[in-house]
Amino acid sequence: SSLPSSSAASLHESAGGKVPLGLRRRALRVLVTGGAGFVGSHLVDRLVERGDSVIVVDNFFTGRKDNVAHHLANPRFEVIRHDVVEPILLEVDQIYHLACPASPTNVVGTLNMLGLAKRIGAKFLLTSTSEVYGDPLQHPQVETYWGNVNPIGVRSCYDEGKRTAETLTMDYHRGANLEVRIARIFNTYGPRMCIDDGRVVSNFVAQALRKEPLTVYGDGKQTRSFQYVSDLVEGLMSLMEGEHIGPFNLGNPGEFTMLELAKVVQDTIDPNARIEFRPNTADDPHKRKPDITRAKELLGWEPKVPLREGLPLMVTDFRKRIFGDQEA
Ligand code: NAD
Ligand code: UDP
Ligand code: UDP
Repeated sequence: SSLPSSSAASLHESAGGKVPLGLRRRALRVLVTGGAGFVGSHLVDRLVERGDSVIVVDNFFTGRKDNVAHHLANPRFEVIRHDVVEPILLEVDQIYHLACPASPTNVVGTLNMLGLAKRIGAKFLLTSTSEVYGDPLQHPQVETYWGNVNPIGVRSCYDEGKRTAETLTMDYHRGANLEVRIARIFNTYGPRMCIDDGRVVSNFVAQALRKEPLTVYGDGKQTRSFQYVSDLVEGLMSLMEGEHIGPFNLGNPGEFTMLELAKVVQDTIDPNARIEFRPNTADDPHKRKPDITRAKELLGWEPKVPLREGLPLMVTDFRKRIFGDQEA
């Protein structure tokens, strides 16, 4: 496949463009919007670890200060409580734009961050989603597939918001010559995930730990492909540092039905955990699995952590957060 590659190579890339992460010449100033959230806080860990100066902009809508508390003493780290729907002035080299509630404001927030990137000439990375494929008629999903989204459905606010965010990102690239990157993230799980935002992995894990039944929606035969958060962060950083715009699917091709996922959770936490069926939500995608050929070839990236290895790491974190210290 031939992807457009950005003309202005970043100052920070070597002639060959293949500087391994961690061996860069000078520290960058990096903005992570949504950096107090689940994915953002893991990304911040890696950026701080490699010596960058990191600014987090977050309104703590779903994120938590706890997620980044361990960096607060670091002079190269800063958190700004701010809603990206309001304009902001900052000076940075790179922007990882993760801030996003499931509402139309993500379009305005993306517009502001693109405007910021344009003014200061920063590289801009959008965290889009596999939801842009809607209830896909192609399986597995390739980046060239345009998707099947119900524009007036209950999920469409998030889906169409991200589709619009992709459009704006490409318009700023074409119109303002902005250096951009687009990641389409597939279902991701791991430590620091919100305990009760209703996602399937967090629900099942919390339910099994609390000795509640696992709630399977519909017949449980719908599929998702679950990626461990460290694999995603690796992919986002490779994308930012590399020379291709994308969009790139970032996900683990290991595909599970919800019943299979329930079985993995039972095996990991409690073989006696019961399963309870509930009506499914409207417009629920029947299948989802990334084709990651493009990311493998052009970013040299692929996920390393299978579900059965990643899940126990999340369970340890959930155990601590649900039971506190009384249960070791
Ligand atoms: P999250 O809710 O944990 O993180 C989002 C962060 O953005 C939170 O800290 C929240 O407080 C902040 N935020 C929300 N609205 C904001 C606003 N208007 N101004 C400033 N901050 C704001 O979610 P996550 O799972 O870490 O997701 C990060 C990004 O990845 C999002 O853009 C999401 O759409 C995308 N994504 C995630 C997944 C996944 O499975 N986790 C899948 C596809 C795409
Ligand atoms: N913006 C921002 N910070 C900046 C520059 C712009 O938040 O440093 C916002 C700006 O307020 C505007 C949006 O980004 O709402 C888009 O900016 P752009 O300059 O692209 O568009 P214009 O303001 O010309 O419509
Ligand atoms: N789901 C489920 N039980 C739950 C929560 C979700 O069976 O307690 C199902 C849901 O119907 C969907 C799948 O799990 O088919 C993934 O849902 P999630 O909200 O985690 O992710 P998304 O639908 O956004 O991919």
